[in-house]
Amino acid sequence: MAEECSCTPEEVTIFPCSGGLNCGQIANHAAVSLYTLGVGKIYCLAGIGAHIDGMIESARRAKRLVAIDGCQVACAKKTIEHAGLAVTDWICVTEEGITKSHNLLLEEGEIEYITRRIKRLLSKPLNTTK
Ligand code: SF4
Repeated sequence: MAEECSCTPEEVTIFPCSGGLNCGQIANHAAVSLYTLGVGKIYCLAGIGAHIDGMIESARRAKRLVAIDGCQVACAKKTIEHAGLAVTDWICVTEEGITKSHNLLLEEGEIEYITRRIKRLLSKPLNTTK
């Protein structure tokens, strides 16, 4: 049987890129779903990007820093790393087979699919997620 991750939601901090394309907003909606399911806590990527010291220190206390990026430009991952933090889990919406577009009338099924993919990633202990 696969070992389960033992992190609590407060220890799992989720940063969606929240970009202005369908994929960025799918990342955002998936993060909200994960929060409502009790999987982790959403944190403010903009605060990390602005190098707000207290916010960076709070994020540093998390066991897992999860970046959900809409596309391979990877803005969430790069923003976190630019602040000197290490991303432990990364997922990219377009790499999961969703085509980038400017259509912000999102498909519920695509949000659910990305949410499931992240839940699966987070169900694994850290050293087996690579
Ligand atoms: S990762 Fe892609 S969708 Fe997200 S903010 Fe950057 S460019 Fe936009």
